[in-house]
Amino acid sequence: MNPSVRRFVSNDFTVRASCVDATSVVLHMQNLQSMQPIPTIAVGRSMVGALLMASHLKDGQEVGILVKGNGPIMTVFAQANYNGGVRGYTSAPQYEPFEYEQNNLSIKEAIGNGFITVARHQPFQAQPYQGTVELVSGEIGDDLAYYLQQSQQIRSILSLGVYLDAFGKVRAAGGILIEVMPGVEDEIVKKLEDNFSKNKKDLSQVIKEGLTPEDLLKKYMEGLNYTDIPHQFPISYSCPCDKARVLNAVSILGVDELDDMISKNEKAKVQCQMCGQPYEIEIQELTEIRNKLFKNSLH
Ligand SMILES: [Zn+2]
Repeated sequence: MNPSVRRFVSNDFTVRASCVDATSVVLHMQNLQSMQPIPTIAVGRSMVGALLMASHLKDGQEVGILVKGNGPIMTVFAQANYNGGVRGYTSAPQYEPFEYEQNNLSIKEAIGNGFITVARHQPFQAQPYQGTVELVSGEIGDDLAYYLQQSQQIRSILSLGVYLDAFGKVRAAGGILIEVMPGVEDEIVKKLEDNFSKNKKDLSQVIKEGLTPEDLLKKYMEGLNYTDIPHQFPISYSCPCDKARVLNAVSILGVDELDDMISKNEKAKVQCQMCGQPYEIEIQELTEIRNKLFKNSLH
């Protein structure tokens, strides 16, 4: 069975933390989308970040992370819910840099300059709560920490890691999020900062050495009184796609393209980009989309 996101809170409730070993879901995503190494790291880190942030919400709530940059990867998207479901996507799954350095898998150049948007969806609420900040590092972890600081006034330690093997396949993935609430005692902040500077390590390096995100989290939390919060939701790759969304995506093709498809008198076969679920669209459905588009174009 897949692991759950582990959650902890300090006994005075001013520090909350979570960590996750997300290897299974990030590897699943890479295989599903036949993704190259650099995009895999970008999407994988976003998936881990979304899982950690969603674990701090309430039952049924979800977090979406959208990174838009001017680099070759352009768009990275990940979405996770409190109950451990997560999915991810990039507009450039096949991107490979010209100079490929196995030991320097920085994604900053691939993402470029741009913005990161975080959306929190609450059930029964049509509009998500949404905030956007400029990318400060392009490595996603620091960008999300900057978002928490700017948009929610939460100071945090956020570490996301995706470690690939020599063939570019996901060997391990995971992350740590420690959030410091307003009103925290200076002494606690000092302790966290000391622990962090003493043990600061790239998480993918930590995973490579055979340690877990939880091992590193415990080092960062050393000296604090804290307890586990039960959170029994094994993580899983899950995609809430359905036919309505697929039909909506098909309308982007435009009237001419749709006319072409209709004239061939064949059902259209499309796959969800995030999970590979195949959908068949009947000629009649194509015609309806086409007519609606055509009607709208006359206004
Ligand atoms: Zn899907």
